Amino acid sequence: MINVTKTYLPPIEEYQQYVERIWQSNQLTNNGPLVRELEQKLKDFLGVKHCYFVSNGTIAIQIALKVLNISQEVITTPFSYCATTHSLIWENCKPIFADILSTDFCIDPKKVEEQITEKTQAILATHVYGNPCAVDELAEIAQKHKLKLIYDAAHCFGVKVNNNSIFNYGDISTCSFHSTKVFHSTEGGAIFTDNDEYAYLIDRYRSFGHIGDNYLTIGINGKNSEFHAAMGLCVLPKVPEIIEARRQIFNLYDENLNWNKLIKPKVVLPTETNYAYYPIFLESEEILFKVRAALAEHDIIPRRYFYPSLSTLEFVVSESNCPISDDFASRALALPLYFDLAHEDVIKIAKIVNNNL
Ligand SMILES: *Cc1c(COP(=O)(O)O)cnc(C)c1O
Repeated sequence: MINVTKTYLPPIEEYQQYVERIWQSNQLTNNGPLVRELEQKLKDFLGVKHCYFVSNGTIAIQIALKVLNISQEVITTPFSYCATTHSLIWENCKPIFADILSTDFCIDPKKVEEQITEKTQAILATHVYGNPCAVDELAEIAQKHKLKLIYDAAHCFGVKVNNNSIFNYGDISTCSFHSTKVFHSTEGGAIFTDNDEYAYLIDRYRSFGHIGDNYLTIGINGKNSEFHAAMGLCVLPKVPEIIEARRQIFNLYDENLNWNKLIKPKVVLPTETNYAYYPIFLESEEILFKVRAALAEHDIIPRRYFYPSLSTLEFVVSESNCPISDDFASRALALPLYFDLAHEDVIKIAKIVNNNL
């Protein structure tokens, strides 16, 4: 079976070496030596000032909202994974959806500006499939209206814009290190900022609000363990190799798919990408069903990603109308893409897709 993704597992001996260190230190969690080592290596690898390793990419967004003191309306994208919207609602914020661009499928800065009211406190945008949002326009809008800017950069490990880590954009940027992502620590995530005051708060909030024996404030348990850090430390040195393997597969799809009947995202800014996903947009949802069924006959399982458009979720109360997101979400399909997917399988997948358009 060929699934949409497959987790990269490092050689088991490499993981075992770290496990031995855990047995030696006898410290399994609470900001242990491997967590600190991983954070330092991530800062060096990515070129970011502050990096806090947390238990997942969803709690990362929730902590970002708390640190920035956001509790009212937040303008956000309907075209993302549900965690973006769910984090807002979980933190008692009100998501106000602004529709996306039909080029890169990221939030449309013009639509963002139209939705701003006195109650707006922040913008929460997703770099969709790892492709950067209109970061300069969004920064300008945030500054002009005194809004905080948070990026859900869950897809973006290793992505650079204008030669700068994409995690350096916004007041706070978050990432997911879930097993399905380009870089992973089994479960995990990180919070990035270059603001020292926010950094201090992130570190407190992720650990119950502790300062020594006492508490600064009400916190949450967003810490991560030595075992998760160990996996991260094993996977991190392989990232350049993983990205290179994905690049080759990505290019092979590019060369073999029938672009007369398909659309893919257009990357606008000068970007060093990580080839995180291979989404195609079909002409209609019926054709998507047809392509999906044809692939399933060969045990090939793509993923509707993102689907559904978050503004259409019935438990998300929203008055916003997002026809572009609703339309593209109904016909988006992510094709299999992982480091050791065989090139002949890529060609086979492309053929099956082309034959059913
Ligand atoms: C994966 C993902 C998340 C959630 O990350 P977890 O680590 O699974 O909590 C949030 N947003 C986007 C866009 C994602 O792809």
